[in-house]
Amino acid sequence: MLEYKLIRSKRRKTLVLQVRHGQVTVRAPHYVTTDFIDVFIQEKSTWLRTKLAEQQETPKCCNFSQNSNLLYLGEEVTLNITSAKKAGVFFSCDTSSEIEKDSDQQSRTKQLNVAISEKVNAKLVVPSEKSRQVKKQLESYFKQQAEQLIIERLELISKRVSLKPTMINIRQYRARWGSCNNKGEVSFNYLLMMTPTFVIDYVIVHELCHLEHLNHSKDFWQLVENFCPNYQLAKRWLSDYQSQLHWLQPN
Ligand SMILES: [Zn+2]
Repeated sequence: MLEYKLIRSKRRKTLVLQVRHGQVTVRAPHYVTTDFIDVFIQEKSTWLRTKLAEQQETPKCCNFSQNSNLLYLGEEVTLNITSAKKAGVFFSCDTSSEIEKDSDQQSRTKQLNVAISEKVNAKLVVPSEKSRQVKKQLESYFKQQAEQLIIERLELISKRVSLKPTMINIRQYRARWGSCNNKGEVSFNYLLMMTPTFVIDYVIVHELCHLEHLNHSKDFWQLVENFCPNYQLAKRWLSDYQSQLHWLQPN
């Protein structure tokens, strides 16, 4: 018998099986008996074992392989790598890591699909080459998304706080989320797209406040707090999720 975590809910009307991070979770209505659940688990054991095997040794940090996890706007998404005529990156709803007795839209994992062009895919022999290609496509997708979202939010926040940069740059940084220089230029790491919007807003406020104080003085933090009262929560989120926020080079 497979081990599982049981979560009962009064509102739930359907029985749902989930496999995430090597853990089987059963979400069940309060009236379903454990005997019934055990039989259900038994019936689905082949599927469950396959899923568990797939998820084994999935590192916390994304390695850009099939079924690895990645954060997008603070939500965990699963990578699905395919090949198609045209390369592309797009989201869809994952139904493969979950079995439901009835239709229930709740608690579905989002899937981030990376389609490698057939031409390129044919040349990728070693798995690490494929991972590198996936990473490359994701980098440009995240950059493109960041250019839209960060600039849009920056314009809104900039008006609200009456601090306007001379230039905005979206790029990749190894170990920082943003920067501001004495020419009034601000830059943002496009990997911020992994964090929830309240964290993105905090980083924007942080860099904009550097236009007023180019240091981390008491006055600087006071200004940050004025414009972003929950900034401590955002800082906390960044440190809690630190281990998942780096993009490793596939080797
Ligand atoms: Zn700073």
